[in-house]
Amino acid sequence: VSQLANRFAEDGGEIVCDRVQSIEPAGLDQVRVGMPGNSRVFNNAVIAAGAWSTRIEGSVMDRLPLDTERGYHVMFPDDAPLLTRPVGLADAGLYLSPLGGGLRAAGTVELAGLDAKPNPRRLDYIENAARRALPALSRRGDTWLGFRPTLPDSLPVIGRSSKHPSVIYAFGHHHIGLTLGGITGKLVQQIIDREDPIVDPTPYAAQRFLS
Ligand SMILES: Cc1cc2nc3c(=O)[nH]c(=O)nc-3n(C[C@H](O)[C@H](O)[C@H](O)COP(=O)(O)OP(=O)(O)OC[C@H]3O[C@@H](n4cnc5c(N)ncnc54)[C@H](O)[C@@H]3O)c2cc1C
Repeated sequence: VSQLANRFAEDGGEIVCDRVQSIEPAGLDQVRVGMPGNSRVFNNAVIAAGAWSTRIEGSVMDRLPLDTERGYHVMFPDDAPLLTRPVGLADAGLYLSPLGGGLRAAGTVELAGLDAKPNPRRLDYIENAARRALPALSRRGDTWLGFRPTLPDSLPVIGRSSKHPSVIYAFGHHHIGLTLGGITGKLVQQIIDREDPIVDPTPYAAQRFLS
């Protein structure tokens, strides 16, 4: 990710690390992006804030039924050598993956929104399921709670806002957002530049949720 960011900056892109609070029209073909104590006008705004995307306020935003499927991981920092490849434990709902920083046990789906604290019982469940599969696992390392952005039909929303053509949605990639990041970026670029799209974006339009 840092290499991509560096390349973006080398190509003339500007990276601003701030919280977007609102997006409002700035005429017919631009939008004003509001941040704490600051706002800027852009030709286009891509909403790619994962499960938080619909928390951004403003009259350009459609009401979309985005929720989150929370998932957890437990690292076993000394145990990457126990596996030579990722292994899925289908019955337990998690994956064991050997990584540079150890063996990562990750998965489960928890419906508890964006604000609830991490549930330690979920971490214990993952740890115990991993130990049942691999009794040689040693100490437990760091843990993580992630927020998968999910819509009711398990498809992302990729395409223009119905309220302003300068706003493009790119969120809701549920369990496979890392996998789909590249092609989503390409599709967003083609939508903005009004090029022929690499895949038909119709199934991903926000309009499917708007009556
Ligand atoms: C346990 C677990 C395992 C997973 N494993 C895989 C896997 O193996 N392969 C895979 O493809 N996917 C996997 N996923 C799913 C993947 O993590 C998500 O689909 C992906 O992160 C979604 O990407 P995103 O960029 O849309 O959202 P995020 O990765 O959530 O990024 C959104 C970003 O927007 C920022 N943001 C939010 N609000 C604002 C705001 N108002 N202003 C500015 N910035 C804001 C956030 O801080 C965050 O940095 C897994 C998820 C979990 C929980």
